Amino acid sequence: MKSYLFSYSEVETPLYPKDKEYIVGIIESEDKSRTIAFIDNKFRSSLDIGIEGILEKRQMNEKEVCFFIPRSDENDEPVFKKVALITGSSKGIGKAIAFELAKIGYDIIVNNSSNTEEGLAVAKEITKMGRESIYFCADISKYDDVKHMFDRSIKKFGKIDVLVNNAGITRDKTLKNMDNDKWEEVISINLTGTFFCTKLIAQHMIEHQNGKIINIASVIGQIGNIGQSNYSASKGGIIAFTKSVAKELAKYNITVNAIAPGFVKTDMVDAIPQDKLQNIINQIPLKRLAKPEEIAKLVKYLVSDDANYITGQTININGGFYM
Ligand code: NAD
Repeated sequence: MKSYLFSYSEVETPLYPKDKEYIVGIIESEDKSRTIAFIDNKFRSSLDIGIEGILEKRQMNEKEVCFFIPRSDENDEPVFKKVALITGSSKGIGKAIAFELAKIGYDIIVNNSSNTEEGLAVAKEITKMGRESIYFCADISKYDDVKHMFDRSIKKFGKIDVLVNNAGITRDKTLKNMDNDKWEEVISINLTGTFFCTKLIAQHMIEHQNGKIINIASVIGQIGNIGQSNYSASKGGIIAFTKSVAKELAKYNITVNAIAPGFVKTDMVDAIPQDKLQNIINQIPLKRLAKPEEIAKLVKYLVSDDANYITGQTININGGFYM
């Protein structure tokens, strides 16, 4: 069972026989039970609330004493219990983000709105990587679905550190042929869905005075595109939404940024007819589509402490397509 450091003493306590002094910590396990444990003071510099480790019982002078041993990653850095919710993470860019964050120790909430098997498979894969993961079939354009996903996630993990608003769709038509339903569908999933998830999770992040929100926009929200007035309006809306929310949440130590990818090799782009796609690729200075993993690595950077001073920005990742 995984255990986390819940709190620890600044003073060190001797253990009989008085050969050495130890830090005393309260350790919380996954089943929420708490135990007092000793921690070797060689770990002092890496101790922090929330770091993961194992509880070990040792015989000391005919007594059983509990020790907490912090876990470290391949770079010898302590591993924290961190939780990320990534909407639309059963495939494409969202799935790549889920794997990238799981690799650096995040527990992942996987979501989509239709293909349950696909979502469950991603969650299973993440569990195999040694992280925890749950899958929710929830339509982000429906407030009640989002609320249910959020409440159940908090019940399971106790917190959400990172929200990636990634789920999105296209329903392309020129304005002349754009019926109201296609307009509504795209705006309600891409833009209103982003609002629902952000509103619910921001409230939780405000209570914790900590959090990172990343919204997946698009180059089309910056430059427009024939046949995509609904999509470009939703993505341009996400960029403006990101700026307002970043201003509102900065005082709670929450950063909010948007990523604007160019064309990425996923099912969304595979739906573009081959000749049109080749024409697009010819206009990209780097002469290729982005890989989903390249977008995921940018998310990894934005959630890291190295990016703590970045907020309200739209980061372009488009092979030079728009500068
Ligand atoms: P994709 O179609 O491969 O995946 C989209 C994901 O969103 C899927 O898991 C899908 O089930 C989920 N989804 C759709 N509607 C949903 C809803 N109502 N509720 C919850 N989940 C829902 O798409 P992708 O290419 O991976 O795109 C991911 C994001 O990146 C989208 O927001 C898209 O607009 C954006 N984007 C993509 C590209 C690109 O070239 N692929 C470029 C720029 C931006």
